[in-house]
Amino acid sequence: MPTKHDFVQHNCDHYDGNRYDHLDKRKYGEEADICIVGAGAAGGVLAYELSQAGFKVVVIEAGPFWNPQTDFASDELSMHSLAWNDTRLVAGNNPLAMGHNNSGRGVGGGTVHFTGVFYRFHESDFQLRTMDGVADDWPITYKDLEPYYEKIEKDIAVSGPKHFPWGPFQGPYPYPEREPISANSELFRRGCEKLGIRSAVAPLAILSAPFDGRPPCINRGFCNQGCLPNAKFSTLIHYIPKAIGHGAEVLSDCMVTQVVVDKSGRVTGVTFIHDDKEYFQKAKITIISAFCIETPRLLLHSACPMFPNGLANSSGMVGKALMTHTGHDIYAKFHDEVRIYKGTPVMAVSQEFYETDKSRGFVKGYTLNAHGSRPLGLAKNLVSKADIWGEKLYDIMRDYNFYAQITMVGEVLPDNNNSVTLSNEKDEYGIPRPIITFSYGENDNKLIVHGVQKANEILEATGGKPAFVIPDTGHLMGTCRMGNNSSTSVVDGFCRSHDIPNLYICSAAVFVTSGGCNPTETVMAIAARTADYIIEEAKKDGQYGMRKTSSMT
Ligand SMILES: Cc1cc2nc3c(=O)[nH]c(=O)nc-3n(C[C@H](O)[C@H](O)[C@H](O)COP(=O)(O)OP(=O)(O)OC[C@H]3O[C@@H](n4cnc5c(N)ncnc54)[C@H](O)[C@@H]3O)c2cc1C
Ligand code: SF4
Repeated sequence: MPTKHDFVQHNCDHYDGNRYDHLDKRKYGEEADICIVGAGAAGGVLAYELSQAGFKVVVIEAGPFWNPQTDFASDELSMHSLAWNDTRLVAGNNPLAMGHNNSGRGVGGGTVHFTGVFYRFHESDFQLRTMDGVADDWPITYKDLEPYYEKIEKDIAVSGPKHFPWGPFQGPYPYPEREPISANSELFRRGCEKLGIRSAVAPLAILSAPFDGRPPCINRGFCNQGCLPNAKFSTLIHYIPKAIGHGAEVLSDCMVTQVVVDKSGRVTGVTFIHDDKEYFQKAKITIISAFCIETPRLLLHSACPMFPNGLANSSGMVGKALMTHTGHDIYAKFHDEVRIYKGTPVMAVSQEFYETDKSRGFVKGYTLNAHGSRPLGLAKNLVSKADIWGEKLYDIMRDYNFYAQITMVGEVLPDNNNSVTLSNEKDEYGIPRPIITFSYGENDNKLIVHGVQKANEILEATGGKPAFVIPDTGHLMGTCRMGNNSSTSVVDGFCRSHDIPNLYICSAAVFVTSGGCNPTETVMAIAARTADYIIEEAKKDGQYGMRKTSSMT
């Protein structure tokens, strides 16, 4: 039977390393300086930086406080529980697959089951309007994020090559690159070499040597099932425990249902539900870090007489310009066994087709990741996304060990028609279920054709026979974009909402464009910069009660 201090028990709050089965003795029950909704990539970094600076921080997280050693299994089926699996309604010409492929649920958010591929955005990613005449420029540049990229890479000991050939940062990474690489990645690199395409070992938030009491990767390949040995970084095992050490309180299994605004138009805190009971968390500043679907859902659902169209939504942009990456998986069959289940799924990369080359007939580009798959995931995707059934499905799964795979991570341009809106159907918390509408645009489709062709060429160059393509997506971004103009954006360059001064929105939701590579390092860099801004603002006006002002000087 679980005890009051059992680390495995799920329906409980988290308090200085121990768990309690009631919320009456909350640490900051009267008032917190800062309430963060969502303990994912952004929420974890914010909690760490702000609690370290001396703020009374409470993090409210809808899902459980996982214990990797007892809760994670090397089992594809059971680890679907790491995802946000609540019903969401999908629409558009290219409806998105939700669930395991998108959001996490629980302390750590998506970082618990992400693949750990860790890239910085390129300078061009922040300036699409200026450079290519499409979409919009971000209100920040690469230079603004550079010190935060650097800090985070060091904080978590990112492993990567001595020389990374693309973008403004070309290595070396804090920890050496992973070796040996998987057979799938080896084939990818050889194929690239034959075609004169540069490739590199992927930068990973996965340890190549011991760090911070954690062991290096043992290559079993269950990264998307939550890393049991703790070799893969997540905010669950890194930033959140450190934040708790600095005094932060984490309330897990607590679903935030409303952001509350007073008559003066300032946010007073949030209501949340734990074990069917409603609570209120008062805070001087509220930060919503609930990713790209739940953030706009919460803001729209929190509409009140003063903000009838939802909070922070005077621009009408809350829920608009949802982006994903084209995540097409390209498979080829080989004569010899490849065994794509072995090792960290991604260990080699090429960003040779990342920047705009007008001769291709589209703007921007993509990253090609040599990418492994586990059998259940592959079978499910064949059926649900590639429409492959019956004998063909049987044949592919029988020969599973002979396939190699490349996944393209391609830029999708923002489009206001791609959106998150509220339906008339309510969930068990009384919040309307979201409708997620998505269709690819013309540029996106051209980019996909190019990426699939290049991947097939690389696979063919080492003797692979192109077999099938799974038209997948991954990495949601947008719906509360940042910008300098309050009539076309939701937050400013520091993630502060234009409409409500003590409401911040900080997660992948604030992305203006999607970039052509995996986004989490950028999510975390933005969060660290937002934390710095909040700290600096507090220093200036002294209005936020600090516990230990000495750490601020
Ligand atoms: C299978 C998979 C593989 C991936 N691989 C990579 C990769 O290799 N590299 C990479 O860069 N990115 C990868 N990603 C993407 C990455 O996970 C996200 O970019 C990142 O987690 C987004 O961070 P976030 O803080 O915006 O949101 P999340 O990390 O999703 O955090 C949001 C948190 O908010 C909580 N929440 C939501 N609503 C509420 C509410 N109402 N009340 C309380 N809590 C709430 C959620 O439970 C969640 O914990 C992958 C994602 C998946 C799913
Ligand atoms: S392959 Fe490495 S990082 Fe992935 S789950 Fe196994 S030990 Fe963790």
